[in-house]
Amino acid sequence: MQHRVTLIPGDGIGPEVTEATRRVLEATGVGFEWDTVTIGGQALEETGSPLPDRTLRSIRTSKVALKGPVTTPIGTGFRSVNVALRQTLDLYASVRPHKLYPGINTPFRDVDIIVVRENTEDLYAGIEFARGDMFTSGLRSFVRDATGKEITEDSAVSLKVISEAASRRIVRFAFEYARRNGRRKVTAVHKANILKFSDGLFLDTARKVAREYNDIAFSEMLVDAACMALVRTPRLFDVLVLPNFYGDFVSELCAGLVGGMGIAPGANIGDEIAVFEPAHGSAPGYAGLDKANSMAMMLSGAMMLHYLGEKDSADRLEAAIAEVIVEGKDLTSDVKADPATAVGTSRVADAVIEQLQA
Ligand code: NAD
Repeated sequence: MQHRVTLIPGDGIGPEVTEATRRVLEATGVGFEWDTVTIGGQALEETGSPLPDRTLRSIRTSKVALKGPVTTPIGTGFRSVNVALRQTLDLYASVRPHKLYPGINTPFRDVDIIVVRENTEDLYAGIEFARGDMFTSGLRSFVRDATGKEITEDSAVSLKVISEAASRRIVRFAFEYARRNGRRKVTAVHKANILKFSDGLFLDTARKVAREYNDIAFSEMLVDAACMALVRTPRLFDVLVLPNFYGDFVSELCAGLVGGMGIAPGANIGDEIAVFEPAHGSAPGYAGLDKANSMAMMLSGAMMLHYLGEKDSADRLEAAIAEVIVEGKDLTSDVKADPATAVGTSRVADAVIEQLQA
């Protein structure tokens, strides 16, 4: 069976890691029909828009996309073309697994943490008021009348919006994920002791949803305490569910536990559509040098195989990557014990393919 998948190579290191990933995915024997499209600067040049209709149509038709990192062109009205893509397609759940593979050089042990991050609201909804703006002045008056508190004239304001509906669906998603994947515990991470209304609503909703899942344990933790505990005792964590803003930082902290951005995969998932992409950005300093680690994107590809129902191939691909890591020979400099002997992006792909064919 052929799977139609929209392929977005991206820019910076994107095309290199995407090509490496496409090669290993095809080496699993699964059939793909790729529809290659663009977003970001390349799309802007070709179509006049960084997020063209043709690209959105392709993803809506395929329902599954594999995406490399993309730089947001300046001055196009987009804060981030990646955030815009997730919001346009309502890909409300960011899923980032952080698994420590034997052979990775890190001081941490026993890390196997899934970060489920709300993707559509919170401080990243993009509702901001610039310093000196007419609307900021109106907002200052409103806040003065409503609360008696003063926002000084030289202030800029970003709104943190947390809704019950978005909180409920992300927490449900985390529990459903836990159930489907044999996980035992979901931890809601928040700062409800200070942000009583916004994070308070998230936490309250999480507690209610948790009561629907008696088979999965539930715990809650303040985000500051969670950051410390993740570093001290990462083995105590299983699935984390977080509002958008904390999810950004905590997922990167977790990537640090398992060896860095070069091996941190991810997916953005909605009810109908899923876009699989590594957690890292376009790392322009590495572009075109055959140095970038493609394992984050390969592991995102393995997540995509799972999503497509190709469980055996997904497991084989992950095992092949794990074997290349444990052998320790064909690795890029970011994860190689002796960086002087590091190999290039394409050689890593060759090594993974050799493992798949062994
Ligand atoms: P980045 O992840 O691109 O790079 C930060 C550093 O991490 C790099 O300098 C490099 O040392 C390391 N790194 C990242 N990926 C690596 C890989 N595959 N192999 C080896 N090392 C790797 O983050 P940044 O510099 O903050 O962002 C660069 C650009 O990427 C920005 O324009 C940003 O907006 C964009 N970005 C895109 C996405 C996305 O497409 N989803 C995500 C994050 C950032």
